[in-house]
Amino acid sequence: MSASNTDRYHQSYTPSRPSVSTLALHGPASTRRDGGPLVAPIVQSTTFIQPALDGYDGPTYSRVDNPTVTELERVLGGFEEALPSVTFGSGLAAETALFLAVLKAGDHAVVGEAVYGGTTRLFQQLLSELGVSATFVDSTDLEAVRRAVKPTTRLVFVESPANPTLSITDIQAVSEIAHEVGALCAVDNTFLTPVLQRPLDLGADISVYSTTKHIEGHSAALGGAVTARDEKLIEKIRWVRKCTGGIIAPLNSWLTLQGIKTLPLRLERQSRSAQTVAEWLSKAEGVERVCYPGLDGFEQSELAAKQHERIAGETLHGCVVAFELAGGLEAGKKLLGSLELCRLVEHVGSVETLVTHPATMTHADVPREQRERFGLTDGLVRLSVGLEDPADIIADLAGAIAAGLGVRSTSQKAVASV
Ligand code: PLP
Repeated sequence: MSASNTDRYHQSYTPSRPSVSTLALHGPASTRRDGGPLVAPIVQSTTFIQPALDGYDGPTYSRVDNPTVTELERVLGGFEEALPSVTFGSGLAAETALFLAVLKAGDHAVVGEAVYGGTTRLFQQLLSELGVSATFVDSTDLEAVRRAVKPTTRLVFVESPANPTLSITDIQAVSEIAHEVGALCAVDNTFLTPVLQRPLDLGADISVYSTTKHIEGHSAALGGAVTARDEKLIEKIRWVRKCTGGIIAPLNSWLTLQGIKTLPLRLERQSRSAQTVAEWLSKAEGVERVCYPGLDGFEQSELAAKQHERIAGETLHGCVVAFELAGGLEAGKKLLGSLELCRLVEHVGSVETLVTHPATMTHADVPREQRERFGLTDGLVRLSVGLEDPADIIADLAGAIAAGLGVRSTSQKAVASV
């Protein structure tokens, strides 16, 4: 097809802000081309033929760019009215490239203490050896954030809702504090994705994702992404990726693109089910604590309502719920060993319901005093609610809670009350 024909078929739609469900299927502009594939092809080739030495600006080598990766980046960036995202082989590869792009020896970062354990390990055990210092603070406490920033601070990094306690950080306020000292603010938005929270609209400079979680959604492909609107920043991160080689594989890009098509639908259904399960847990005998932003009495519900998106008239808070049984660690262990439907894994955001024991799994590398400070106790169980019928999830939990507490199962009563 000639260039002029191609251009003719590339007319883009320009609604003011397409809804997330349209963006998930088409990206920010139409790529319609008659005779073209409906589904983006997987381009496995590691390299691309160049017409001549000069004047070529297409893909060269798949460590730098690749057409399937480019399509994923177009769709991901489109969710946040940003530049095409920069994608990576995992969420931690995305974080690593971001940190290498914005921090150098002598620089300082302020990091929310309730973040993914791998993020804490990266700062405390690896970046510290390269001369980058980090202060971990309770990022829900704005005064603590303000006290922690210093003239050498170049980055404020937070996760909201936090993993696994679901505490909410005021993104607009921490961005302002960062900007006052000339630092950037980055938000790990893995738990809500751009469907339920848009950090860049709230004032942050960068959104970071483990696309391995909800975005791909089927536990079939690792991936990570960084999204921003600043061209220089995105170029720098792209350059770090070229230097370090952390790009996502074409097959994983394709699987992630397939997952994205149903992301808004999945998140809507899974959030509603999580709300049902959290409400049931909050009334269940022997459950001492339930963390979920949609629960009555959740301390930061006003902030959650401000930051989280509404779908079909209702503010949704994602599919992760954390809870603790009265018997602490021992009861929690028995519960985890008694579940039949919910699977014990080191993961969240899949279509199946998953459970994790953060203290010994995802956050095992976080020093005990640090994790206890932000509420990650030994008995805390993290639940990632999937697409099963919530009544079945509750029945499974009821049986396992009874086993954890050493009492007879109340599952029938539980199901009847859903
Ligand atoms: N951020 C959050 C909130 C996570 O839960 C995870 C992984 O569990 C990561 C980042 C790291 O992502 P990945 O496992 O894709 O490297």
